[in-house]
Amino acid sequence: MNMSNQELLRALPSVDEVLKTARREESGRLSAALFTWAVRKVLGEARLKIVSGEWLPPSIEDIIVMAMESYAVESKPSLCKVVNATGTVLHTNIGRAVLCVEAQEAVFSASRGNVNIELDISTGARSDRDCRVERLITRLTSAEAATVVNNNAAAVVLAINTLAQGREVIVSRGELVEIGASFRLAEIVGKSGAILREVGSTNKTRIADFEAAISGNTALLFKAHTSNYKVVGFTCSATLKELHELGKAKGLPIVYDLGSGSLIDLSAFGLPNEPQAASCIASGADVITFSGDKLLGGPQAGIIAGKKEIIDRIRNNPLKRALRVDKLTMAALEATLRLYLEPERLKERLPVLRYMTRPIDELDAVAQKAATSIRERLGPGYIVAVDDDLSTIGGGALPTETLRTRVVAITHERHRPHDIYRRFLDSRPPILGRVGKGRFLLDPRCVDSYEELVPSFDVDNKQIAEKGKYPT
Ligand SMILES: *Cc1c(COP(=O)(O)O)cnc(C)c1O
Repeated sequence: MNMSNQELLRALPSVDEVLKTARREESGRLSAALFTWAVRKVLGEARLKIVSGEWLPPSIEDIIVMAMESYAVESKPSLCKVVNATGTVLHTNIGRAVLCVEAQEAVFSASRGNVNIELDISTGARSDRDCRVERLITRLTSAEAATVVNNNAAAVVLAINTLAQGREVIVSRGELVEIGASFRLAEIVGKSGAILREVGSTNKTRIADFEAAISGNTALLFKAHTSNYKVVGFTCSATLKELHELGKAKGLPIVYDLGSGSLIDLSAFGLPNEPQAASCIASGADVITFSGDKLLGGPQAGIIAGKKEIIDRIRNNPLKRALRVDKLTMAALEATLRLYLEPERLKERLPVLRYMTRPIDELDAVAQKAATSIRERLGPGYIVAVDDDLSTIGGGALPTETLRTRVVAITHERHRPHDIYRRFLDSRPPILGRVGKGRFLLDPRCVDSYEELVPSFDVDNKQIAEKGKYPT
C-alpha cells in the first residue's frame, strides 16, 4: 500500500465517531448491536474501495446513510411470504404445497411447547417417532408398514442403502430420472453405496432385459416414475406386475420411487392420473417412496411404505436417524393425512386439490377483478387484459398435463415483460408471476383473493435512506 492510500484510510471516521453522530441525529429507535454491525460492515467495504482506488473516503453522513441501508435489509427476515401467481400449484422455488388449515394449526401448536413425539402417553415409555403417521399411511396405502424421512430423495437413498449396499440395483435406462438439478437417480444410487446396473434403452426396456441382468450380486429391482418427462412413440417398459413376478421368482424386492405419488384417484376430480400409492402396493411393489409436499399436499417429507420386514430394516439403519423429521413436520404430516380419511371433504380442505380443481368461471372472476384494480394501481403506459392460458401442476408431477386457466396479461409501451416481472417482485409481499408470449402474466389459480394480485409498492429502503430517515 502506498502512502496516499494510508492517508486516505486515516481520513475514515472510527466506528465510535459514526455511532456518536448517528445517536445525536436520532436516538433510541435502532437496535444498537445491529446498527454497530452495519457501520463496521460499511467501514470495511469503504476501506477495500479506497485501497482499490474506487472511492475517496465517504463523509460520516454518507456512512450513516449506507449503514441505514444495510440495517434496513438486515433487520427484516429474509424468508418472507411470496404470492404464487405463477399458476404452478407445486412450485419448488417457493416451497411447493400450501398446507391445509389443520396442518397450520398443528404446526403452531407443536411449536409452542413440547409434544409426545417419542413418548407413549398410555405407558409412559419411549415410543417410535413414526408410529402416529405410520397407522395413517398403512391405512391409506394398504402397505404393511411405513416410515418417514426428510424428503423423497432421502427416502430413495435410505431404501437403496438399506437393501443394496455394495450390491447391484437394476434400473431401466428409460427411468434414470433427474429431478431439478440436484437429484439424479444414477448418482443417488452410487452415493447410497450401491452399484447401478442400467438395462434396456432410453425408449424400450423389456422385462427380459431385467431378467438377463440379474446376477448373484443383484440386491433389488428399481422402478422410478418418470415424473417430469414422458417417453412417447416407439416405447416399451417393464410393468410393475412383470417386475413383481420376476422379483418373486428370483427372491428380489421391487423398490418403486413414485415421485409425487397420490393417495387418491385424481381422475375422479377430472384430473390426469398419477401413480396411486395403494395400487402400486397392490400390484406388488415391496417398497414405495413418495414426497410429502407434492400431490399429497403436506410438508416436505419422504414417505416409505411397504413390507414390514423391509421397513423394519430401513428403520434400524443408522442413516434413518440422520434423515428423520422433526416434530413440526410430523405435526403437519399427521394433520394432512387425517384429511384423507374423509375424502368427500378433501377438495375443499386440501389447498393443493382445491387449486387444481378450481372452476374456470371462478378463475375468470378473480382475474377480472384483479385486472381492474391492477390497471388503476399501475397507471398510464400499462395495458392490462384478461386472457386464456394454461396452468401447470409442477413439482415434477403430471409434467405434460396442463389445466385451463384465465390470466391477467400485462404489457407496457416501453418496459419489457421481464422488467414488469421484476417490478412485481418489488411489491410487498413480492408477487411471483411469469412471462409468456411477450407478456407478463398473473395466474389467479393459487391465490385466495384477487387483492393478493394487486401490487403495493412501498418506498424502498434506498429512498428511505436517501431521505436520511431511520426505518421504523
Ligand atoms: C420429486 C421427486 C424426487 C425427489 O423428491 P423430494 O421430495 O423433492 O426430495 C425423487 N424422485 C422422483 C421421481 C420425483 O418426482
